[in-house]
Amino acid sequence: MELTTEQFIHDFELTLNEQQQTILSTATPSELFVALAHTIRQYYTPLWIERNKKLQENKDKIAYYFSVEFLPGRMLETNLLNLGILDVVKEGFAQLGIDFTQVKQAEHDMALGNGGLGRLAAAFMDSLATTGYAGFGNGLRYKYGLFKQRIVNGYQVELPDAWFGSIGNVWETRKDHDIVDVRFFGNVYMTDAGNGKLKPVYSDAQVLRAVPYDVPQLGYGNGVVNNLRLWDVEIPEEYELSYPTIEDRRRVEDITAVLYPDDSSDEGKKLRLMQEYFMTSAGLQTIVKSYLKLGLPLERIYEKVSVHINDTHPAVAPAEFMRILIDEYGLEWDDAWNATQKVMSYTNHTILSEALEKWHTGLFAHVLPRVYQIIVEIDNRYAAQMSAQGVDYETIENTRIVRNNQVHMAHLAIIGGHSVNGVAQIHTELLKEDTLRDFYKVSPEKFNNKTNGIVQRRWTQIAAPGLSKTIDKWIGQGWRSDIHELRKLNEYVDNSQAQADFWEVKQLAKQRLADYIEQTTGVHVTTDAIFDVQVKRLHAYKRQLLNVMHIIKLYWDIKDNPEGEFTPRVFIFGAKAAPGYHFAKSIIKIINELANLINNDEQIGDKLKVVFLENYRVSLAELIIPAANVSEQISLASKEASGTSNMKFMMTGAVTMATLDGANIEIKDEVGDDNIVIFGMTKDDVYNHYATRDYYSRGIYDNDPVIHRVVNTFVDGTIPNCQREGSEIFDALITYNDEYFLLQDFTSYVEAQEHLTQLYADRARWMHMSMTNIANSDKFTSDDTIRQYAQEIWNLSLPSHGKHRI
Ligand SMILES: *Cc1c(COP(=O)(O)O)cnc(C)c1O
Repeated sequence: MELTTEQFIHDFELTLNEQQQTILSTATPSELFVALAHTIRQYYTPLWIERNKKLQENKDKIAYYFSVEFLPGRMLETNLLNLGILDVVKEGFAQLGIDFTQVKQAEHDMALGNGGLGRLAAAFMDSLATTGYAGFGNGLRYKYGLFKQRIVNGYQVELPDAWFGSIGNVWETRKDHDIVDVRFFGNVYMTDAGNGKLKPVYSDAQVLRAVPYDVPQLGYGNGVVNNLRLWDVEIPEEYELSYPTIEDRRRVEDITAVLYPDDSSDEGKKLRLMQEYFMTSAGLQTIVKSYLKLGLPLERIYEKVSVHINDTHPAVAPAEFMRILIDEYGLEWDDAWNATQKVMSYTNHTILSEALEKWHTGLFAHVLPRVYQIIVEIDNRYAAQMSAQGVDYETIENTRIVRNNQVHMAHLAIIGGHSVNGVAQIHTELLKEDTLRDFYKVSPEKFNNKTNGIVQRRWTQIAAPGLSKTIDKWIGQGWRSDIHELRKLNEYVDNSQAQADFWEVKQLAKQRLADYIEQTTGVHVTTDAIFDVQVKRLHAYKRQLLNVMHIIKLYWDIKDNPEGEFTPRVFIFGAKAAPGYHFAKSIIKIINELANLINNDEQIGDKLKVVFLENYRVSLAELIIPAANVSEQISLASKEASGTSNMKFMMTGAVTMATLDGANIEIKDEVGDDNIVIFGMTKDDVYNHYATRDYYSRGIYDNDPVIHRVVNTFVDGTIPNCQREGSEIFDALITYNDEYFLLQDFTSYVEAQEHLTQLYADRARWMHMSMTNIANSDKFTSDDTIRQYAQEIWNLSLPSHGKHRI
């Protein structure tokens, strides 16, 4: 939008005075932030209203992205950037003598997600608006987001993330006119509907009120405003007497109280099922209602509506949609089923079996009695149809929804929809040949790949403004709106002046991070060192422990030969462990104790530093990632579905230390073998070991003296204060045969690290690598990913009004 600095200052001061009842000279950063947010709201609200009006008038098809997680982080800068007024606001603040950085830090991260999956959902919201598609989010308005992590004596301590704080969510608007009721528990029986049909009667159900809060999602430079709808729970007034005590009320409020902090594992808890159904039912009910306002026949709803199921958490959607169409609007089963399959699509995010949700039938039928009946009916019809088509018994059994007293949510999502996609090429291949191979046999046409992406604007223009200016200098500003122009940078990867510029800007980012490290941990690090970073959720399959083993090896190298040549390294970790994930927490403790040992050893000095930064989250990622030289993406091949931090690092000029897993493979395809460092087993190697059961980690431990010494370091007292954790790790690696093949990959990893050190020593070579990564990172823009979803899965076209600029 067009906005002069004068106009902005005027609007901002007026808002500050009238809404916040305060003046510049006394306002706190938090008050300034709220005033700024409200000023921005005034700018985009007319666009939002116009957008909704147009979509309805033109009867445009809308895709709804259902996800129990959205992890946008801070919204202020994104909103300013996308409105095209970030520079005007910064200039206005400079004139007013306000520190923009301080104000932006007053915004609490919106952390309604665990990690990559939630971050992807947030990226898609931005990209849907930016590409102009009518794509709306549907999720939960958790009062507490992902826990806040503190490190105390090296241990992770979890604190509640009271993200509303005293100012609430400044971006949301409560929408009373879209309130709906959601039912749980009770009994369902059939009565004669009078027209020869049966009608279900719900008795003794618990009725809860779903209240939507809408958070606008602004497109970059195009005036488009989409919507992210987050549901909160309330007790309907007419049922208030049923909840006489505070305890009773709290049990209801629990449904939207807190995000489950588990990443890649399924808790199987009743409250989780209630959360999932609550959001899914509320979302689908309002979608059907707003469709009916268009005056079109319900059985053709698929022409105007798509519903996407992000991982299995909203996978009850096909059954709930059937229930709404049949029970509430009287559609025949076959018409409803036809519509449901065309509306629904599903993304699988993991092959880890512990993360594929299943519910015990007893619990499911108790919580959702009518939905359970419908699921059983879907399942029976599915089995009968498959059998009629001549599919063998075993395949049918393997793909059924209800089996061995469990409801398989992924199966419901696949059977009840028309599309299932993986999130990177290798992941989709694994789904076809392994995890979902029986489904692939019976419905190959449903399978497709959509490699994940990232919002390039957040990771460059917002997180790395210095780098962005350097890119401007060499290839102009066109890449800011057309990311594919980044490829022009390929022309300069060997230009010594360009290399010097990109080196310089990386050093500045490293210094910023070094300052933060010193402030928060007291550890002094030098930017002469290689900054080697692994930031992501803590999980055994991601193999932070392999990184730790390498650090231990370097520690012994220096101790054995203190006068030897050594390229200094700073190892930086950031990771939250699920509160109940004991082993992951032990690894955090080990990293912190190892850091204490190394950082306080004068003989080691600046050669080696280890830093664990607490409370890893989006806003911290924005500080850390642009400062990295090395991006550690070292999961066991086949286990990381895609990864997205690998893409963020690539885009900001880090070189990836990678296994051939997830999107690392596609990064390698983009940059070429010489501009990435690959090590370790391939997925086929891993599967061969599974097939032959020939892996024996103790054999490696017994025969390789380097590995022997590194593994012993966990238990021989070298690392103080972590005897219990050390022996747990020893047991995982040796006694329990090293589930993630760390010992197998260790030697290859160490060699790759030595190779990388040599590469870094040759600055021209290194900068060629770094810049080649930036230049070819356009492949991973979520704008393109979402275009593929829109065209290939949802059959969406751009709304006719979607492309105007502001
Ligand atoms: C991108 C991101 C992730 C995902 O990281 P992976 O390395 O792909 O697992 C997790 N958390 C945050 C805060 C992120 O920004």
